Amino acid sequence: MSAKLFIPGPVEVSAKTFAAMTQPMIGHRSGDFKKLYASIHPRLQELFGTVQPVFLSTSSAWGVMEGSIRNLVGSGKVLNCMCGAFSDKWLDVSKKCGKDAVGLQVEWGQPVRGEQIREQLKAGGFDAVTVIHNETSTGVMSDIAEIAAAVREFPEVCLIVDSVSSFSVVPLPMDALGIDVLLTGSQKALAMPPGLALFSASKKAMERAATVKGRGYYFDFVEFAKNQAEDMTPSTPTIAHIYALRSKLDDIFTEGVAARHARHAELNAMVAEWVARRGLGFFAPEGYRSKSLTCVANTLNLDVPALLANLKSRHNLIIDGGYGKLKGKTFRLSNMGDETRATIAELIAALDDSLDR
Ligand SMILES: *Cc1c(COP(=O)(O)O)cnc(C)c1O
Repeated sequence: MSAKLFIPGPVEVSAKTFAAMTQPMIGHRSGDFKKLYASIHPRLQELFGTVQPVFLSTSSAWGVMEGSIRNLVGSGKVLNCMCGAFSDKWLDVSKKCGKDAVGLQVEWGQPVRGEQIREQLKAGGFDAVTVIHNETSTGVMSDIAEIAAAVREFPEVCLIVDSVSSFSVVPLPMDALGIDVLLTGSQKALAMPPGLALFSASKKAMERAATVKGRGYYFDFVEFAKNQAEDMTPSTPTIAHIYALRSKLDDIFTEGVAARHARHAELNAMVAEWVARRGLGFFAPEGYRSKSLTCVANTLNLDVPALLANLKSRHNLIIDGGYGKLKGKTFRLSNMGDETRATIAELIAALDDSLDR
């Protein structure tokens, strides 16, 4: 048996989700495809908390993260809020797109605060701000309501939010918060295989995109909107993933969205209790801890590689030994996707067994 993943992405994919992917192939311009997209679209809008269309991009999240820059940043500047590996990289991506990019660097382990963004935007000339809601590398969840309130003080600025590891974990209603682009990927919070990204864009974002030059083709928001209006995608999508997404939406709405949020909170609390019981620390400050993963601060100087090796050889489980410069100083435990009280209890028992040997 292959090892069970408790890394914060890709996460474990259920047999039901995999089985959904093996349905017969259909033409992407066929009535059957249009029916498939139309059948999932209202539930996607409900999950995104939007009345705007929700688009399906055959790419990983980075495709849409780069696309957001190319569509919404014209001759103005983009403020990339940085507090960990993924958000730091977004600055490089903006620069590689040839944009005038400004980094707002926050210490790894800390959240991005609305006040810090407000201070930067006061300089003027910004087209957009990028923020990662849940910085997967550090286990920090920033407060999007606070951030969105700050960005709304600058009506010409679009707010782009990555919710790759927090989508459907906690409420993040796009329209109510005033988010201009909300994006996620398939292999983390949604517990599907990698290869699909989902996003939605506000009216303001779409109006901006229409005026920006150099949007390219593959991630052109205007192309996505034109095609979605006919229940299609600009190019041939990963239809197998869309079958999987339909199955996943069935799971989510059978469980109930609020119950799904509650389950994630409960499982996250189980992990937090274990961390406290072992006398370990949290890399993220209280109030800003992710609900989908825990970044454990290795305050006891545990031998993290040995812990990982024990978990793998004795329990066939894989956890993450810390991202980049946090390797060994932290380790990360995921409670994303389909995890249950039983599977998290299993993880905790395996951690105890591996540490107490
Ligand atoms: C994993 C991750 C990404 C990158 O996703 P890809 O699927 O590799 O493109 C972006 N943002 C966050 C917060 C992530 O956790």
